Amino acid sequence: MRSVAGPRAGSPCGVTVPDRALEEAFKPYVGLPFGEPEVARDPVNEPMIRQWCDAMGDRNPIYWDPAAAAKTPHGGLVAPPTMLQAWILSGFRMADADRPPADRQEKLHALFAKHGYTGVVATNCEQEYTRYLHPGERVVAEATIESISEEKTTALGVGYFIVTRTAFRTESGEVVGSMIFRVLRFKPNQPAQAQGQAAAPAQPGRIPPLRGKDNGWWWEAVERGEIPIQKCSACGALRHPPRPMCPECQSTEWTSVPSAGNGTVYSFVVMHHPPMPGYDFPVAIGLVDLDEGTRLVANLVDCPFEEIHIGMKVEASIEEMGGVKMPVFRRAGVRR
Ligand code: ZN
Repeated sequence: MRSVAGPRAGSPCGVTVPDRALEEAFKPYVGLPFGEPEVARDPVNEPMIRQWCDAMGDRNPIYWDPAAAAKTPHGGLVAPPTMLQAWILSGFRMADADRPPADRQEKLHALFAKHGYTGVVATNCEQEYTRYLHPGERVVAEATIESISEEKTTALGVGYFIVTRTAFRTESGEVVGSMIFRVLRFKPNQPAQAQGQAAAPAQPGRIPPLRGKDNGWWWEAVERGEIPIQKCSACGALRHPPRPMCPECQSTEWTSVPSAGNGTVYSFVVMHHPPMPGYDFPVAIGLVDLDEGTRLVANLVDCPFEEIHIGMKVEASIEEMGGVKMPVFRRAGVRR
């Protein structure tokens, strides 16, 4: 009997064998609801609406100015339609990695992980709004596992697209909107193995950065040990990440200049969750202002988390992490 649960390292010919045991196991989930309908923890309320508008920079007075909202056809304050899903999010419950799966969707994802499909990435979300919600109304969501694709080969690895559909209603049953959410559940690609090397590692590796027509050149330069910055040939503006058009003058002509790799921490986060294959958590990630003027997101290494601070001077080097060469930053003056 052939096992197909292990990672398919270095199979550039693209020949893969779908995991029939997994496919048999996930079939019964299709068409079923996650479980009981999810009732919002809080009714639609003004403080949450205000927080949302502050975070989004939405200044429409129908969301926060009762007097202005009263003069509109709504007759009073309403919630931004794009908040629809926010009302039913279950909060930190999701961050407890050790708890058993709470519903069918979580059981389904656990099943994929058990079969080696450890990577997950949201690919698209479509929302439809039927009407505005008013403060005091409580949202009830019913989610269903709508479909699971055949096994697909993607740039991230082989995997399955899982589509879920959620119907949002009020407690009295009135439909207020719906959402289709699609995720790719995949086996992360492994770095290509050199000929004669041992077989692939048993643990899934890091998800490689996606390379396309617009950014492939950047990663190729990184592999040579450089950190290039894209430069507009028309107006000279620097930009990162790489993209085809200058945001200043809309020219599509560009060249690049090398960065010396010196910068300052603009912001950072120490990530504990969600666990991703190929990383040793917790991991510090910095948003670094390069001296040349663009920003770069990269790991901050060899520095105790409590010592990392905004404004810290850092220096870049190119290192192989999880099989991929990428820039990482250390505190300025700290040797490797
Ligand atoms: Zn330009």
